[in-house]
Amino acid sequence: MSPYELKTGVRRSSYFLPTLRETPADATLVSHRLMLRGGLIRQASAGLYNWLPLGFRVLKKIERIVRQEQDRIGAHECLMPTIQSADLWRQSGRYEDYGKEMLRITDRHDRALLYGPTNEEAITSIFAETIKTYKELPQLLYHIQWKFRDEVRPRFGVMRAREFYMKDAYSFDCDKQGGIDSYNSMFISYLRTFQRLGVQAIPMRADTGPIGGESSHEFVIIAETGESTIYLDSSLLDMRWALAAQDDRKKYREMVSRATSLYAATSDEHTPLQFDKQVPRSRQIKTHGIEVGHVFFFGDKYSKPLDAKIKAASGEEVFVQMGSYGIGISRLVAAIIESSHDDRGIVWPKSVAPFKVGLICLDTGKYKVSEELYALLCNNGFETLYDDRFDVRAGVKFAEMDLLGLPIQLIVGGKSATSGSIEFKERKSDERHFVPLEQVIPFIRKQSTADSVTIFD
Ligand code: ATP
Ligand code: MG
Repeated sequence: MSPYELKTGVRRSSYFLPTLRETPADATLVSHRLMLRGGLIRQASAGLYNWLPLGFRVLKKIERIVRQEQDRIGAHECLMPTIQSADLWRQSGRYEDYGKEMLRITDRHDRALLYGPTNEEAITSIFAETIKTYKELPQLLYHIQWKFRDEVRPRFGVMRAREFYMKDAYSFDCDKQGGIDSYNSMFISYLRTFQRLGVQAIPMRADTGPIGGESSHEFVIIAETGESTIYLDSSLLDMRWALAAQDDRKKYREMVSRATSLYAATSDEHTPLQFDKQVPRSRQIKTHGIEVGHVFFFGDKYSKPLDAKIKAASGEEVFVQMGSYGIGISRLVAAIIESSHDDRGIVWPKSVAPFKVGLICLDTGKYKVSEELYALLCNNGFETLYDDRFDVRAGVKFAEMDLLGLPIQLIVGGKSATSGSIEFKERKSDERHFVPLEQVIPFIRKQSTADSVTIFD
């Protein structure tokens, strides 16, 4: 089911899942606390994290959805190294500009290298060496790779780390209109991606920052705990209308123009007067958010200094028009938790949950039934975390399952034993049903279609 073939089922008794009872004192943000307590990550050093098996599964699930949505709009995946040569960055003029955020390294031959914070230079250089004519355009390339930025204050766990996992894509077009069309298809693809990840991400006009350029939007997930204050028109909360178009550049143009005409601004860009003028009181929302994606169109900002030219249809040589598009995959793990948790723990959206089902066996007398159910779940492709421990109290097992936030819990024994059936609990709503063993699989299937979160899954 995934490029990494995540295992369908694991037994809690032999799984590597170092959960914590106590809330770690230095973690202030709820997602950071829950990720540590749930055994998803462990800190290696300031701003550097180990991804433990459970966290790794979530990371891979997010990555898979991001990849599918990039592929859907015709982007091609590649992989560039984490370490880059300083030369290209000197050519673009960013080697000095990037300042202390860039981790600079010298190799044994005294050559200047760096741990890539982003890849505009690297990809432009590949392009310049390989593509020479408009006939080979448009082109969209992306990779999913670790980045390093020596943040002044790494904090909030993987939310603002120094090493983080990012999908970054780059578009190449002959002319400005083509470049904007690529920008638009990526914009729509982002709306789809976040919808599938089970979060509400609002596109907001943004400052172009050190990447530079003409047009830029940030995609911000609404979460009370977010770092930025945001102001928006509540009409932006439902953008399903923007998701239907299939690879039609004209449609994309209309949709992006509709989406971007609605008011949405971070505090830097916010103007209260304009907000009042444009948005009726009843639709004004002021809340907080987390930036999870960022798209830029910057024309020839990099193609010019790096000499990435192509022969246009007219015969003249022109600099290729470029854009770049990032999604913070590792940040998303935390951001999704920020937007989806309760006082008992994480509530994973189904599409990214590390396992779909948490199976708990409560008494030794029911061992055979729960083994049978575990096999049934695995054989039917339901990813299952099976708590098969008998030396742990029921209360502890329940609390841990709630903390881990798997969408469905199945409980064998205890109350269910008296009714001769299996207890089914939906983590999010806390809704419970008692279902006979042979009905469990059809029941889960029915539940999954009834509330199928998106039109794309
Ligand atoms: P921020 O404003 O949060 O510092 P940025 O604007 O510098 O981020 P971009 O260059 O736009 O970041 O990078 C693209 C995406 O990479 C961001 O939208 C974010 O999701 C992710 N990202 C950036 N910096 C970090 C970080 N230090 N830790 C985790 N993810 C990050
Ligand atoms: Mg940004």
